[in-house]
Amino acid sequence: MENTENLVARLCAQRDLTDEEFHALLVTDRWDAQLVEAADRVRRAHYGVDVYIRGLIEFTNYCKNNCYYCGIRRDNRNAVRYRLTQAQILACCAEGYALGFRTFVLQGGEDPYFTDDRLCAIVAAIRKNHPDCAITLSVGERTHESYQRLFDAGADRYLLRHETADFTHYGRLHPAELSAENRQRCLFDLKAIGYQVGSGFMVGSPYQTTENLIADLRFLQKLQPDMIGIGPYITHAETPFAGQKSGSLELTLRLVSILRLMFPYALIPATTALGTIHPEGREMGLKAGANVVMPNLSPTDVRKLYALYENKICTGEEAAQCIGCLSRRVENAGYRVVTARGDVKKA
Ligand code: SAH
Repeated sequence: MENTENLVARLCAQRDLTDEEFHALLVTDRWDAQLVEAADRVRRAHYGVDVYIRGLIEFTNYCKNNCYYCGIRRDNRNAVRYRLTQAQILACCAEGYALGFRTFVLQGGEDPYFTDDRLCAIVAAIRKNHPDCAITLSVGERTHESYQRLFDAGADRYLLRHETADFTHYGRLHPAELSAENRQRCLFDLKAIGYQVGSGFMVGSPYQTTENLIADLRFLQKLQPDMIGIGPYITHAETPFAGQKSGSLELTLRLVSILRLMFPYALIPATTALGTIHPEGREMGLKAGANVVMPNLSPTDVRKLYALYENKICTGEEAAQCIGCLSRRVENAGYRVVTARGDVKKA
């Protein structure tokens, strides 16, 4: 096998490698200057030093699903449940707008309370109050018809990580009523409707192999998403995976760089999970090729309750403090927060 330098050069030129070559890059998790520098070069060529901000509103932690890794799974009886009202969600958006946010991300568990009618009303109200903003939804698997109605109500973007592309691995992370097939179907439906689509996966989730990660890269090549979110899996004590260990910072960073080289135009966040496993995880993510951060706009009193995993950061501060802190971090890493909508720059 060739040395990393050659592999990185070829990945830059071709935006692709063979499975064997990807394997060589992914089988280790050591920090790799060549990979990081190449990714930063490509990121600067497409997006300069700009970092887009997305105001994240975690509007419900009720969930009908029972994913084995997730802290807000249905069977976690110790989770204290909440859902925001439409008025509360609109207040978060208004506060965010005043702080410079031009994208709002509504994320939540799969909460049956939020029927199409209710969710469409919320989307339409945000659209009316903030016509110049992008509205991103991240509310899991729904029908084609539901996605269409939400799009018609004014939603522009949708985040739905495929979690793991390998069907067998998917089956080890989820109960039988959930399938990789349906999740992937959702992603192609969203794309066909006209959403800017974000997908992604957890790094270091239980039972994950290097081959699984290569399958994730191949799936993304097929989907050609506009946004790609990845983060380390982080253990939560009140899940069936309580005894499993969390994913690695270094492997996540390597994958951020590889994704930047494969998808030069992509919007790639330095995720909260990265910031949770290392105090400077998000700065390292930006330097490795990420160009988005997602400060929390949820009301402070519910932040701790949206606990997908343990020790989640940024659960204490007000929105204004959160964006202030993140802007400083972005600048310290050598980049600059911009308030533009930040749509994908696909060729
Ligand atoms: N219900 C929505 C939103 C899920 S939460 C949906 O189905 O898309 C957003 C993401 O958090 C998930 O897609 C998953 O990749 C990630 N996540 C969940 N539990 C996690 C954990 N224990 N560690 C790290 N990431 C986790």
